[in-house]
Amino acid sequence: MACEICGREGSHAFMCPYYSPRKTEHYCSSCGEGIQEGEEYIENDAGEFRHYDCFYGMRDLLEWLGYKVKTAEEISDTYEMDY
Ligand SMILES: [Zn+2]
Ligand SMILES: [Zn+2]
Repeated sequence: MACEICGREGSHAFMCPYYSPRKTEHYCSSCGEGIQEGEEYIENDAGEFRHYDCFYGMRDLLEWLGYKVKTAEEISDTYEMDY
C-alpha cells in the first residue's frame, strides 16, 4: 500500500513526515549524510569517514588520507658544499 502523503511504496520520500533515516554508524565528513548499507566509503587514520563518491578527485582523496602532494624542487648538485 502506497504512502498517502508521498505516494511511495515500501519507503518514503525524503520530505515525507513518515520518512525515518536508517540508523547509521558512520557519517560522511564531506556531505554530512549517514553512510548507508551498500554504499562505498573510506576511513582514514583520523577515524573519519567519507563516501567514495564524495571525493572530488585523486588529490582530494590522497590529502584526506594524509598524503602530501609534493612538488619536486630543482635538483642542486652543490649540496655537498653545504657542510
Ligand atoms: Zn511517505
Ligand atoms: Zn558523503
